[in-house]
Amino acid sequence: MKAIMKQFVQSAVMTVVLPGMLFSSSEKLPQTDQLEAVVCQHTWIPVLKEDGRIVAMELEEYISRVVLGEMPASFDEEALKSQAVAARTYTLQMVEEGSRHQGAVCTDYRCCQSYMDPEEYLHTRGTQEHLDKVFEAVADTAGEVVCYDGELICATYFASAGGYTEDAREVWGQSYPYLISVSSPESSVYDDKEVRFSFQEFQDRLGTALKGAPESWFGAVTYTVGGGVDSMRIGQTRYSGVEIRGIFGLRSTVFQVEVTEDSVVFRTDGYGHRVGLSQYGAEAMAVDGYSYDQILSHYYQGTTLETYRDD
Ligand SMILES: [Zn+2]
Repeated sequence: MKAIMKQFVQSAVMTVVLPGMLFSSSEKLPQTDQLEAVVCQHTWIPVLKEDGRIVAMELEEYISRVVLGEMPASFDEEALKSQAVAARTYTLQMVEEGSRHQGAVCTDYRCCQSYMDPEEYLHTRGTQEHLDKVFEAVADTAGEVVCYDGELICATYFASAGGYTEDAREVWGQSYPYLISVSSPESSVYDDKEVRFSFQEFQDRLGTALKGAPESWFGAVTYTVGGGVDSMRIGQTRYSGVEIRGIFGLRSTVFQVEVTEDSVVFRTDGYGHRVGLSQYGAEAMAVDGYSYDQILSHYYQGTTLETYRDD
């Protein structure tokens, strides 16, 4: 694995001196296995805070806060563990790549990943029990990352797949051997959602005036392997499913269009870009008895679980 940016990321070896373990130079030095017991390795990552400062933060502490923000603590512990490993991999890959925030990751869910302070969590979302459950999922998987061919993967994840995940190429135009379409049998709070636009609003969003009766505005539709809308003709223009999702703020590209008396209605399943790990899919697999490593190898095909070393 590539070396992480040196100015921010450093491995700090902390020696914890426990009572009864102090020894003078004349005494016998501890054996290797004893040394391992008193030395723990920490990975520090650069984090861009809301006030614009970039601070060094302990990786597992950052991941705990990401998992608190990203996944309901009521989810099965195996789902939480898969989320922790995905978030850790995504974070380290971004830091190694150094493409955002001068090599840092931020705390804005619209940019990098969700992030929530434990104090805020207790005030707004959950209990100490929930907090402990999330911290345990992070601690139980500490240092674990997903790799392909010995390299950290781009571990994208999202809320809900609506049946199948999407191949990365269909959404971002770039292929990754491990980000391919897989089944994601799940039911989520995001299924069968409706968004409605008046005919005028619809044309305003599109930025064009459409001719004829609204029923005639919509032409042939093509679909991706993952069941999303690949392209759809509206008026004289062919739009990609990703474009339509953006223009109308749809939850996903898994949608159907219906024209009623006075409006255009989109019905969507799933939520997010649908590439990589589905959070609701992970929960469904966990409830079905799958372990976090099985969940990860399902959503990230052909990958292996490794222990991170920043060398
Ligand atoms: Zn960011």
